Amino acid sequence: MKHRALLFVLFAAALGCVQLAPAAETLLIRNGRIITMKPGDAPFIGYLATGADGKIIAVAEGEPPAGMKADHVIDAGGKFIAPGFISAHSHLFTSPLRGLGHTETLYGWGRANQRLNQHANAEDVYWFALHGSLDFLRNGITTAYDFSISPAVGGQAVGVGEKVPGPVLRPGPFEENQIRAKADAGLRFIDSVSLPRVGTREEILARLEKVLAYAKENYGSNPLFLKMAISGGLQRAPTKETAFLEAYVMKTYGLMNQSHFLESPERVPEQQEKFYWYAEAGALGPNFIFGHFIQTNPDILRIAAKSGASMSWQPMSNSRLGSGVADIPLYRAFGLKVGVGLDDQSCTDLSDPFLNLRIGLALIRTKYKDAKALSVYDMLYLHTLGSAETLQIADKVGSLEPGKFADFLVVDPMDPDTGPVHDPIAHYVLACGLRNLKQVYVGGKLVADGTHLLTQDEAVVRREVDTRMARLEAAAAALDEKK
Ligand SMILES: [Zn+2]
Repeated sequence: MKHRALLFVLFAAALGCVQLAPAAETLLIRNGRIITMKPGDAPFIGYLATGADGKIIAVAEGEPPAGMKADHVIDAGGKFIAPGFISAHSHLFTSPLRGLGHTETLYGWGRANQRLNQHANAEDVYWFALHGSLDFLRNGITTAYDFSISPAVGGQAVGVGEKVPGPVLRPGPFEENQIRAKADAGLRFIDSVSLPRVGTREEILARLEKVLAYAKENYGSNPLFLKMAISGGLQRAPTKETAFLEAYVMKTYGLMNQSHFLESPERVPEQQEKFYWYAEAGALGPNFIFGHFIQTNPDILRIAAKSGASMSWQPMSNSRLGSGVADIPLYRAFGLKVGVGLDDQSCTDLSDPFLNLRIGLALIRTKYKDAKALSVYDMLYLHTLGSAETLQIADKVGSLEPGKFADFLVVDPMDPDTGPVHDPIAHYVLACGLRNLKQVYVGGKLVADGTHLLTQDEAVVRREVDTRMARLEAAAAALDEKK
């Protein structure tokens, strides 16, 4: 800092008008069994260094150079150091709604959720999304694409083509609060907002612009905030007008669109027809992600892949809801990029990325009756760098490389002991689980130490969630009685 500038800061600090932020700390982790996920890299024993900006400075095999210094030097003792998981598709506000609708497929499960959700206010969704974000962090998911719950209630058809009365908007900053919740938790995120069909086209766009302005103004310089996106809603819309509106919004505001599509095995022809509405509207392209995308056909796959669109796969959610198995090897053969997500915490129930890896492998290998149908490396890739690629954030996260954010996990295969490591990637994917996850770092900062979270007081969050959920339960019960 220049002399005069330093004097000014000290003077201003003395007057109490400038807060001197503590300098960010640097980290040097040595003796780690590092899985970088950088294409071409095999796992190695080496070191990882982070800068004060929260990014990786160096990651390499062997011992760090003698002159390399850091505020904290940690001997990893041979533990795995691997990229934080990315959830390419999540609904964080559903975190306090687990175990509901457990005998139902998508639409019935959705109704069980809506029974409570419809009574939530803007403050409730802050605490619910905070709960979900903390849960992700503790489980080693450091970046999430999050569909925020919309303020609209009443008009959301649960089934395709279902007729329901027009939606109304609940008052309050629903979307803003869910952005704030993720940032307060310390989770890196893409925030995806829906375009509820309430009011005129101008009113819909004005509401979107308000949320975009809020995000830019309050989080534009926060490295946790990656970007905004829209949550496509054509699957549940009655006309193609929705596809054209979404295509317009994507183009005008430069936003990515992830749309739940071809998820349920019910009324498939009706769902498939809507694919062509997106194509006709010009929505398809690299900025378009199909969420789930299970009930496809070769024509749909060909058009989607040709446009550069991608898909997100939710193995645990798809199996819990009986939605079916997305044919991932076939999709990749078509050239479609694939990301992996944890989906709603209320239908994935346990947002465990290690379990998600193994269920993904199990589904595909069982479908193909072939253990070569999907490799352990590819499965891990899809949940890390592959997801980053579909979300177009691979320059920032997804692998451990200099210049990217230092979002990584420390996983100890010896606690509890899992035996000798013969094949590091296979061991990490098949033999390790949440119980081996020891530390979670986001931007070089420790956010979870074991199951203990360092960014928020969990007792406070839990109290808020319990009180609010009791109110929602009471409101839902009162409504049930009226019916
Ligand atoms: Zn979803």
